[in-house]
Amino acid sequence: KPRKRFGQNFLEDPGIIDHIVSAIAPQNNDLMVEIGPGLGAITEHLVDQVGQMAVVELDRDLIPNLRISFATRNNFHIYEGDALKFDYNRIPSDLGGEQMRIVGNLPYNISTPLLFHLISYQNQIADMHFMLQKEVVDRLAAGVGENSYGRLGIMIQYYCRVEPLFLVPPTAFNPPPKVDSAIVRLVPHETLPITTQCTRSLNKIVTTAFTQRRKTVRNALKSVADDALLEQAGISPEVRPEQVSLAQFARLTDLVLATDQPEPQA
Ligand code: SAM
Repeated sequence: KPRKRFGQNFLEDPGIIDHIVSAIAPQNNDLMVEIGPGLGAITEHLVDQVGQMAVVELDRDLIPNLRISFATRNNFHIYEGDALKFDYNRIPSDLGGEQMRIVGNLPYNISTPLLFHLISYQNQIADMHFMLQKEVVDRLAAGVGENSYGRLGIMIQYYCRVEPLFLVPPTAFNPPPKVDSAIVRLVPHETLPITTQCTRSLNKIVTTAFTQRRKTVRNALKSVADDALLEQAGISPEVRPEQVSLAQFARLTDLVLATDQPEPQA
């Protein structure tokens, strides 16, 4: 029986599962990592197509069932634990392979922290395919000026190309969730197109800007930068945070860091 506590909505629509698997396009040398395999609805369509298949599952009651279902596959590996705290270096070091491909029909309540945890492993990740609440996919993909544009999209777009793929209706799941879902592909940039000296500072500035999204940038970032610094970053102080691009936030971050440097000792 699916458990609410673990955000369990099991995929049951074979057409949707096919569609997800073709979007992933598994290859025979892939190191595929599935987060939250559940009963293995997606797993069973990937395991025979890839080199190694690892799964990370928190609900220990599902583990015996997974062991039985995949007992004959010697490329199948179970990691029992919390995907939010998991050290993803373990998998390539245990199983070989240079980069992981990640897939997951995620519990919606952990999706944002999980994405932030995973991007710290961006060098070890080839790509990621996730089922998420549609609204979260909108936020991930939002460009400057759009309604859903904010911290999540800016920070993930700093590291990844974001491609929304297709919608999935609640009827594809058991039990059906209360929201629409969508599949998104995230591909970490090989070289970052936009950089900053310090991504933690970028994250702080973007977070500060968007906690007051109806204010002008001048007011929202009062504690961080004055008009002169904003203008130097190419940002008009009169606009709202949703009018400020990732490149402008990155430039502002570097300017703030440069002005914060302590004066060299005489
Ligand atoms: N992949 C399956 C499917 O598509 O039918 C199950 C999807 S279900 C939405 C989410 C899965 O993630 C469940 O198996 C749940 O037990 C597992 N899960 C929940 N929280 C987790 C966490 N923190 N770490 C790892 N797995 C988790």
